[in-house]
Amino acid sequence: MSIQSFHPPVRTLMGPGPSDVNPRILEAMSRPTIGHLDPVFVDMMDEMKGMLRTAFQTKNELTMPVSAPGSAGMETCFVNLVEPGDKVIVCQNGVFGGRMKENVERCGGIAVMVEDTWGVAVDPDKVETALKANPDAKILAFVHAETSTGAISDAKTLAALAHEHDCLVIADTVTSLGGSPLLVDDWELDAVYSGTQKCLSCVPGLSPVTFSKRAVEVATTRKTRVQSWFMDLNLVLGYWGGGGKRAYHHTAPINTLYALHEALVILLEEGVENSWARHQRNHHALRAGFEAMGLQFVVPEGQRLPQLNAVSVPEGIDEAAVRSTLLKEYNLEIGAGLGAMAGKIWRVGLMGFASNPTNVLFCLGALDAVLSSMKAPITSGVAVEAARASYR
Ligand code: PLP
Repeated sequence: MSIQSFHPPVRTLMGPGPSDVNPRILEAMSRPTIGHLDPVFVDMMDEMKGMLRTAFQTKNELTMPVSAPGSAGMETCFVNLVEPGDKVIVCQNGVFGGRMKENVERCGGIAVMVEDTWGVAVDPDKVETALKANPDAKILAFVHAETSTGAISDAKTLAALAHEHDCLVIADTVTSLGGSPLLVDDWELDAVYSGTQKCLSCVPGLSPVTFSKRAVEVATTRKTRVQSWFMDLNLVLGYWGGGGKRAYHHTAPINTLYALHEALVILLEEGVENSWARHQRNHHALRAGFEAMGLQFVVPEGQRLPQLNAVSVPEGIDEAAVRSTLLKEYNLEIGAGLGAMAGKIWRVGLMGFASNPTNVLFCLGALDAVLSSMKAPITSGVAVEAARASYR
């Protein structure tokens, strides 16, 4: 067997993430590696923290990327804020709320679940009922943008309810950062984590987080030691903290941080609000095409994420065969359903760099061709024109 360099095919990534990486970001990653305590690198870290604050719309001092994927950002929030015996109200309307429950329980906390049907937003009335029934709860945790279904929840209302009941708020914004309005300070979200591989169009492997003063106070005055050495903010801040000297904590993923820096430069060049608007515009065009074809959205109107479009698989169609044909013949990746929705839906991402008219028209044309060849019960030949009309 001869071992050779790995050369991946060039795909168009329109699944639930990772999304297409902007070539500028790949180029930034290939720049020379320098030491993670090099003064030039440290200056870059400070600049990146500032740009992350703009992306999150916050002034939080403690805003930084965790050196690991979104799941590590999730764990960073839970391990630092939840102590054994703490009660956390966890909203679940898809896969990722379930992971929050796991996190709470692994920290020795008690998870009080507020369940909603998969595919709809978290219901604030149910959350209020749970908060009233659990006056000793310390935290409310929810997923702002549920990637498993494509539903967006009203983070502002949920956070306001939590604060009325003296709870901190942990919010998962892995799929919303950069793609949908997210106002960390205005909405008073306390511990927020995200990912780089969705609407920032960066490579996977980093998790931007931001903590309010309230959350920092709780994390730094806890009674028990954080059980994770790597994610203990009290230690990580020796490296990422503001001012003073930077001390070694772990070897930072230097070139991946160049990538995030470039991704944030690109976001700020466009403007955060403009990026949200672009995601919305492309979603409208994709939606016009899907509806013209006769594909049904899973999530009710008004609760749909522009960057993650979940549609039902037409009657009698083998959904996996469609995805594999798209991949083989068009180099186009779309996502399958997860958990209870496996086999029943497709998830079409329009995230970051991939949220553009070319991808919308390409995806509609390719899906139309594949479904027509499989004799699916759709209206063929109209989707692309419907999307073009939406842009006009
Ligand atoms: N939370 C949500 C809403 C996600 O969509 C994901 C990943 O898709 C995660 C958390 C976990 O992120 P990662 O896969 O980067 O660990």
